[in-house]
Amino acid sequence: MGRLDGKVAIVTGGAMGQGAGIVRAYVAEGASVVVADVAKDQGQALADELGPSAHFADHDVSSPAAWESLVADTNQRFGPVSVLANNAGILRFGTVEAMPVDEVELLWRVNQLGCWLGMQAVVPTMKARGGGSIINASSTEGLGGMANTVAYGATKFAIRGMTKGASHELGPFGIRVNSVHPGMIDTPMTRVHGGDLAMEYGASKVPLRRVGHPEDVAPLYVFLASDESSYINGAEIAVDGGVTATHAFGG
Ligand code: NAD
Repeated sequence: MGRLDGKVAIVTGGAMGQGAGIVRAYVAEGASVVVADVAKDQGQALADELGPSAHFADHDVSSPAAWESLVADTNQRFGPVSVLANNAGILRFGTVEAMPVDEVELLWRVNQLGCWLGMQAVVPTMKARGGGSIINASSTEGLGGMANTVAYGATKFAIRGMTKGASHELGPFGIRVNSVHPGMIDTPMTRVHGGDLAMEYGASKVPLRRVGHPEDVAPLYVFLASDESSYINGAEIAVDGGVTATHAFGG
């Protein structure tokens, strides 16, 4: 028996990185999963590999119209959506002084608006079925600030804040909303900015002296999607090797 038997999940950004780890773990625990991503080749390959419990949907989280059809198609294919992992995200570095406005807007559209639209799109279905679990990907950048990531951090603080408000608004309908705060995780997102050197530097800053991997994060998403977390709502959970357990003098 799987921990997610009978659950129907949408995982955004599910084609690669942490999202692919979440998709694999959800399918392994018995869920039916829609892999929603703009990366068509990787998303389709993952769904093909995992078989009939997984389906790839070409989906841009920043498009309201795309969300409407994604939820309708998922409901029809697998049954009413019970889990939304709002995991898709992009990272851009830049200073307050120099970052172009279009980059700031892109971060906002994909990370913050995408998360909002996802919650908005699944609420009617989750209300109708009597509940659900929404898991929003924030970051350690949603718990503390860092130079050169001010615009990215703003979206991750926003996701943390939206999670709190939504947990109160949706709790009465049995819909739990929680945020996950990964530290430095070895994925295409972080590898593209410096490869092995970046990983070594990141590891040196972590109490556990290593960066995380998608396999370190996925179990938390399984727990929050499952009925094991039935009384956890509005929580923020760091999965960061202890990096946010100190302050700047301890770093
Ligand atoms: P990744 O870049 O490896 O994967 C992100 C996925 O999102 C990709 O498959 C990409 O195609 C997809 N995506 C991008 N834009 C999209 C859009 N508009 N619509 C749909 N899909 C889209 O990144 P990751 O490290 O796996 O990150 C997953 C989440 O975790 C993100 O929200 C990220 O901000 C957050 N996060 C990452 C780290 C880290 O160190 N990697 C740390 C903290 C938080």
